[in-house]
Amino acid sequence: MKITFFSTQPYDKEFFNRYNDSFGFQLDFFEIELNAQTVHLVDKSDAVCVFVNDIVSETVIAQLSIKNVKVIALRCAGFNNVDLAAAKQHNINICRVPAYSPQAVAEHAVALILTLNRKTHKAYNRVREQNFSLNGLLGFDLYGKTVGVIGTGNIGKAFCRIMQGFGCKVLAFDIIANKELEASGVQFVPLIELLQQSDIVSLHCPLNEQTKHIISSDTIQMMKPGVMLINTSRGALIDTTAVITALKSGQIAYLGIDVYEQEEHIFFRDLSATVIEDDTIQRLMSFSNVLVTAHQAFFTKEALTQITLTTLRNVDELLKTNNLSARSALLV
Ligand code: NAD
Repeated sequence: MKITFFSTQPYDKEFFNRYNDSFGFQLDFFEIELNAQTVHLVDKSDAVCVFVNDIVSETVIAQLSIKNVKVIALRCAGFNNVDLAAAKQHNINICRVPAYSPQAVAEHAVALILTLNRKTHKAYNRVREQNFSLNGLLGFDLYGKTVGVIGTGNIGKAFCRIMQGFGCKVLAFDIIANKELEASGVQFVPLIELLQQSDIVSLHCPLNEQTKHIISSDTIQMMKPGVMLINTSRGALIDTTAVITALKSGQIAYLGIDVYEQEEHIFFRDLSATVIEDDTIQRLMSFSNVLVTAHQAFFTKEALTQITLTTLRNVDELLKTNNLSARSALLV
């Protein structure tokens, strides 16, 4: 049985080849993304494996169906890039890795907070140039601050616990309140209240029609002046133009993002020798109080191991039994 992979990097090949022995699949790796222009590369494959920026549209799914592909396996948790209705119509199973290491993403969100606050990235460069002055490096205590968490699923929950460990007051907004978190002292409040009271706002909800641009000019003006905004979830949760305006006025004083609305044209590539035409990301990167990482929150050894094993198991079970033991992994 053959799996064709898109958007692969050397580490994907390394991990999938390492763990494929007990499954015995034929693995075909493409560096290029899957979209309507590249779907023709799929040749006699039982399954296709994709990542966050592959475009699994109706057109792509129809082509995969003609090629008799039976399974589309997402090696990630989010699935906003897949047309689930089209997959259902064409009778193609879609599976994902619902939880691989929520801690990996939560810990990266904390890394963004600490770096933006204590400016260790600037201190590192400064000291290497024998500049030992502290001017411009002033931070604030996390202890006693209010942190607002939007989305308290696997990652949001892990993030809440870390922030409680710092001695922060944690407010949360979710469509379903989490009893366990409530019992540990997290207060579930309406979104407006969370925005009005939080010193730091961190996004951990999925991207869907309800959450697209949940951070807009309207919601930004409800926030505390000087707020820190962290997004490790999906780029389009944020209206980037509105955020740039707020960074210019100082309403947002710190921005940490691991995701960006137009990231599929930029992230996971070395563009150091090219001219980037996207003026929005260039403007964002020009602010000294903005930290951009290129969708690396998931990138730990533990997470990659879990992603690899779950993906191979998902494909194996679906191809052999047309069923999955981990029901939460099955989307269609
Ligand atoms: P999850 O499904 O466990 O949790 C999502 C939570 O969001 C749930 O509690 C859900 O009720 C809540 N939610 C849904 N709609 C909402 C709304 N309208 N308002 C508020 N809350 C809402 O997912 P997770 O594993 O915690 O992952 C969260 C997101 O993180 C994923 O959807 C993905 O986009 C992103 N992610 C990013 C990376 C990365 O490397 N940067 C890695 C993994 C996941």
